[in-house]
Amino acid sequence: LKAEWDKLKDAATVTADGKHLELAANIGTPKDLEGVNNNGAEGIGLYRTEFLYMDSSELPTEDDQFEAYKAVLEGMSGKPVVVRTMDIGGDKELPYLPLPHEMNPFLGYRALRISLVEDGIFRTQLRALLRASVYGQLRIMFPMVATLVEFRSAKAILEEEKAKLIDEGVKVADDIQVGIMIEIPAAAVIADKFAKEVDFFSVGTNDLIQYTMAADRMNERVSYLYQPYNPSILRLLKHVIDSAHAEGKWAGMCGEMAGDQTAVPLLMGLGLDEFSMSATSILKTRSLMKRLDTSKMAELADKAINDCDTADEVVALVNEYVK
Ligand code: PEP
Ligand code: MG
Repeated sequence: LKAEWDKLKDAATVTADGKHLELAANIGTPKDLEGVNNNGAEGIGLYRTEFLYMDSSELPTEDDQFEAYKAVLEGMSGKPVVVRTMDIGGDKELPYLPLPHEMNPFLGYRALRISLVEDGIFRTQLRALLRASVYGQLRIMFPMVATLVEFRSAKAILEEEKAKLIDEGVKVADDIQVGIMIEIPAAAVIADKFAKEVDFFSVGTNDLIQYTMAADRMNERVSYLYQPYNPSILRLLKHVIDSAHAEGKWAGMCGEMAGDQTAVPLLMGLGLDEFSMSATSILKTRSLMKRLDTSKMAELADKAINDCDTADEVVALVNEYVK
């Protein structure tokens, strides 16, 4: 098995019926790049920039951030790099940015909600990203978007900073894709509207599942309800992916589900374009995809969505299809 995986390191990800899928890696710091390149990632599907903030005793400066983003873009030699703007709050705290204690931090002031209020912090991050954009293929992604108004506000701030930099004579790439995480059910439900305005979606299943099932992703007592294979989740995913495709956009996934070997056949069947996961899951997933036929998986996904009533039934169906 190990020998087979080694051979897949430099191979593209191609299914049994010849369809190319993109297998990307999730990272938290530029130090993760070695593992990413050793495991044959075709890009970075999620760079969680909040670690830049969390591993520091004060707000990281524009230059500190620029260096980190540049290192990742250069380290990926022109392959796509999706950088997510900071997702602080929820379970992630900053000692130097005290946030009021909340009853429900996962439903509170976090991520883009903070960025749109503390817009000085947000603008600093965007300027660093825009300056780094000339060193590779940058894609910018906003976390925890619930409404179109939030996306439009964030995009407008990005455009303002871009115009300012260009005015200052700084070079900025002109092909930066701008997308959103789909991790709040409200955004998933109107994905057809978002698809007209964004360049891509990346589904954050870690949060999307907890919010859809109303089951805290950290709470053992309700973990039985945290069901990636529940037909409700699969239906949402189908709507998100179909909506992206209807507007000629791509849909990826950067939550844990993307690297889950039971979920992968279903996601292939739903037409997901990009799968981003921890680097160590890439080769086994490439090996699995190579053995699967997308039209057969489409039939599987269709049955899972229409004929199965429960998550257990979906798992049984996948096991029947993937022997
Ligand atoms: C997610 O919610 O699925 C995700 C990728 O983001 P995080 O795990 O950082 O919340
Ligand atoms: Mg999330």
